[in-house]
Amino acid sequence: MAGKTKVALVGIGKIALDQHVPAIAASPDWELAATVSRKGNVPGIPAFTDFAAFLAERPDVPVVSLCMPPVPRFDYAEAALLAGRHVMLEKPPGATLAEVHALEALARDRGLTLFATWHSRMAHAVAPARAWLKDATIKSAHITWREDVRKWHPGQDWVFEPGGMGVFDPGINALSILTEILPKPVHLTRARLEFPENRQTPIAAQLTFSGNVTADFDWRQEGPQTWDIAVTTDKGELALRMGGNVLEIDGKPVAGENTIMGEYPLLYTRMADLVAARQSDVDLSPMVHVADAMTLGERASTAAFHF
Ligand code: NAP
Repeated sequence: MAGKTKVALVGIGKIALDQHVPAIAASPDWELAATVSRKGNVPGIPAFTDFAAFLAERPDVPVVSLCMPPVPRFDYAEAALLAGRHVMLEKPPGATLAEVHALEALARDRGLTLFATWHSRMAHAVAPARAWLKDATIKSAHITWREDVRKWHPGQDWVFEPGGMGVFDPGINALSILTEILPKPVHLTRARLEFPENRQTPIAAQLTFSGNVTADFDWRQEGPQTWDIAVTTDKGELALRMGGNVLEIDGKPVAGENTIMGEYPLLYTRMADLVAARQSDVDLSPMVHVADAMTLGERASTAAFHF
């Protein structure tokens, strides 16, 4: 894109402030031209509390980046597309698969860009891992994604409400990497989901896929956090650590960087390219695995959870 394109951030909360604002500020492609949020704002940036008012009053902003939780996101995305704006969706891209298909069709009909982002796919070592696995025979793979929900979602009750996806909110990041790096797709064959007795979504999940692929998601890990994917192949052992940011082959670091701060800048670079080409990028394969786990999984009740 020539020069900077105006973008509005909608839903100013943890991820908007932690990642989107700094990524836009450092980008040669984007200017943060407005925010829309009922309570949040970014100092120095024109702030709206109502999305319809923003769409009516700021026709000069062609792109919106939606950072609110998945359940309310569809209405904002649909309104934005109907108003002729290109749309970037935080992950997971929606509350249901069908609503994201509907947005994809609307964007296509209107010649607009829809980008369902997966920030973990932009982690430093994901592309090298994909390249290394391209000609490998996969014998087995295991995901360990264990983090502390109180640290990453402080007081965010929506993660435990219907549509909040529970531990799949971070787990879908692992699945976004898995679906990116494996040379052949896998499908879920079994799942066990642990629901706190006072909550609507799982706090832990153990998944089994075709091809000897397994996953262990848990939101109760205090202390050091674990975001690892280990793959056993005919070429040797691949390990992705730090959420896809560090690649080890046979126990030795070979690529990547131990920081998560490279992911969102690359998402905004990709969005700039998509808008320039009037293309969309909507891959729902990580969310299909979550939907399948919710459909097929056996359910166990576990201790009540309070923030
Ligand atoms: P959050 O801070 O709880 O929510 C972001 C903002 O969305 C809130 O501050 C709120 O702003 C707005 N919002 C909340 N409920 C809304 C509703 N019903 N209608 C309209 N706006 C609403 O959540 P977050 O952690 O930023 O996560 C948001 C998304 O980013 C999720 O999909 C999550 O998976 C993804 N994400 C989060 C992280 C993380 O570390 N937390 C990392 C990567 C991706 P106002 O009240 O001001 O309107």
